[in-house]
Amino acid sequence: MEMTDNKLMVILGGGESGTGSAILARKKGFRVFLSDSGALSDAYRETLKAYGIDFEENGHTEETVLQAAEIVKSPGIPDSVPIVRKARAKGIPVISEIEFAGRYTDAKVICVTGSNGKTTTASLICHILRSAGLNVGLGGNIGKSFARQVAEEPRDCYVLELSSFQLEGVYDFKADIAVLLNITPDHLDRYDHNMQQYVNAKMRIIRNQETEDALIYRIDDPLVTKEIEKLKPAAVHYPFGEKKNDSAAAYTENGKLYIHMKENVFDMELELLALEGMHNVYNSLASGIVAKLMDISDEQLRDSLADFKGVPHRLEKVATVRGVQYINDSKATNVNSCWYALQCMRAKTVLLLGGVDKGNDYAEIEELIRRKVRALVFLGKDNSRLHAFFDGKVAEIRDAASMKEAVKVAHRLARKGDTVLLSPCCASFDLFKNYEDRGDQFRECVRRL
Ligand code: ADP
Repeated sequence: MEMTDNKLMVILGGGESGTGSAILARKKGFRVFLSDSGALSDAYRETLKAYGIDFEENGHTEETVLQAAEIVKSPGIPDSVPIVRKARAKGIPVISEIEFAGRYTDAKVICVTGSNGKTTTASLICHILRSAGLNVGLGGNIGKSFARQVAEEPRDCYVLELSSFQLEGVYDFKADIAVLLNITPDHLDRYDHNMQQYVNAKMRIIRNQETEDALIYRIDDPLVTKEIEKLKPAAVHYPFGEKKNDSAAAYTENGKLYIHMKENVFDMELELLALEGMHNVYNSLASGIVAKLMDISDEQLRDSLADFKGVPHRLEKVATVRGVQYINDSKATNVNSCWYALQCMRAKTVLLLGGVDKGNDYAEIEELIRRKVRALVFLGKDNSRLHAFFDGKVAEIRDAASMKEAVKVAHRLARKGDTVLLSPCCASFDLFKNYEDRGDQFRECVRRL
């Protein structure tokens, strides 16, 4: 074991990621200090105390933080904050939780990234592997942090959902299987509105991959393929796409999904997939390739793709009230995911959208909105950008100041047979705690109709 006794590990941020890193650092024998610029939640404060970990909240004590041998930065903290700049200027390495935890496990690591579909795909892969009896941990952006799992309940295999923020701080970490779902504009506010910076962060998923590793990516995503051509990753390529193609390992044809791996060809009727919509076909194709790389049998894969329950707040069917179906897609925090949601709407739709606009271009969904949407309900503190784009293009547009009002207005505008869809294209922080709170309130309000 390394001599860690005198090394000071500073953890910046005391949420799930930071608390997990602190626990792992403590277990590995480092001196640990956790520092958060805001208040900690009661649960994390108690956990840190229980582990005897030093921490501070509501501000950083610079003298201590800058004595760190290494800093683990939580993904929510931008590089631009003064304490991180100062640490870097002093030459202190700043890494992510993923990099840190990766040092302490030999488990097989499957990493999923992309602009949309990460949680769904990581959850689906985990479902397939667990159903087949593998000892799998699901972490990263979802559930328990990777670091905490490595510290407290080591597994044979991890499926990690990685955001661009988490990927930024990886250096020596390597994914045995990397899944790159898609790249479309998101979070540009944190990348100085520079798309290439965001793309570069996502592409760190292939870092350190060697010829025995696997890279699964979407072949009909122009940005992804451009980067692959440019970077020429060493890993074995497993592209997937909607249409059959010489190089595609997985594709669809005549209402079926196909996965070609070595001698084996797996096929399944698209209608049997548990998840609806073209975007979820992509997610199923990518997950199917992972399953085959992990030697899951055809039968087990077919069963798991058919019985997956889905993830809350992603095209979640809430209820049908007097002939109107209500769908909660609160997780659609950018325009592209709303596009996919609208794409699979079969009935006329009343769309609830709005919130914190991260520099959205609504032109992407204009055509679908003209074709499928009966009315728009804007649910945000500031709806001016929405009005500027949509006024005059949709017959009925209303503003709402709360979820209760939005659901009521939508209910009045919808006709029998219609769908009311919450797919906001925006972040939720203006009126809600987070997207889960927004989706939960939607569900509640629908149930009270
Ligand atoms: P993430 O974790 O990347 O934010 P989620 O799995 O939570 O993604 O899905 C968020 C939303 O993105 C969903 O509600 C859905 O509308 C849309 N979506 C899911 N998968 C895809 C995909 N492969 N391509 C485009 N959009 C998708």
